[in-house]
Amino acid sequence: MSFVGKSIRLVLNTIPRPILQRVAGWAVPMMGILYLGKGRKCPICGAERRRFLPYGYGKVREDALCPTCLSLERHRLLWFYLMNNNAERFKNLPTILHIAPEVCLMKQFKQIYSAKPQNYITADLESPLADMHFDVQQIPIADNSVDIIICNHILEHVESDHKALCEMYRIMRPGGMGIMLVPIDYSREVTFEDDTITDPKQRAEIFGQYDHRRIYGKDYLKRLSAAGFEAEEIDYAATFSDYDRTLYSFGCDKLYIVRKV
Ligand SMILES: [Zn+2]
Repeated sequence: MSFVGKSIRLVLNTIPRPILQRVAGWAVPMMGILYLGKGRKCPICGAERRRFLPYGYGKVREDALCPTCLSLERHRLLWFYLMNNNAERFKNLPTILHIAPEVCLMKQFKQIYSAKPQNYITADLESPLADMHFDVQQIPIADNSVDIIICNHILEHVESDHKALCEMYRIMRPGGMGIMLVPIDYSREVTFEDDTITDPKQRAEIFGQYDHRRIYGKDYLKRLSAAGFEAEEIDYAATFSDYDRTLYSFGCDKLYIVRKV
């Protein structure tokens, strides 16, 4: 692992997330100076670098983090999906609830929604950057009132993901869409969870990160459907050329899209 990779992993594992969220905006771009050059391009902010920065709590992934907007592989992939495949959907600025908003996507949405800022709502348990603060298992928003929900890499942290999914189903307007990515171990048929494991060190060893409560397996789609959604798994990166997959460094995450019929 590179020196930068090791340093980033150490920082992620020792500094509390709210502090990270405050300092990442200037600290990461400074590190990006080490990667000046061409060969990678971020579709979200347009930055070009020799490579992206390494990133990861446990296993560090090389070529992952955009030093300018802080996008990761999955954000870049998702951005293409939203802006290429769903451009129509965003035309009239439908209501978006963005849970635990990724800064790279939030900045773009705030720009797109500058004419109707009230339609783009961000929420988080504790982030100072979010509009609303709530537990996703109990969402203080009316039934059938949100058109699009973005909720990435949250469900693996939540005590009852079923409760959270039912809440998101409840607030989604019929015809609405959700993006719900989670880390998945495709070698597992069934999701592994054990509520008796609460020690952060043990969780990091067993679940891959100190604050994860489960490791999802191939049954993730079924868990989405169990809340009422029509759920779809899309290997969107496979629709790009080898050249583009390297240029944008998409990684190997699949997209998980839900709809309320
Ligand atoms: Zn970027």
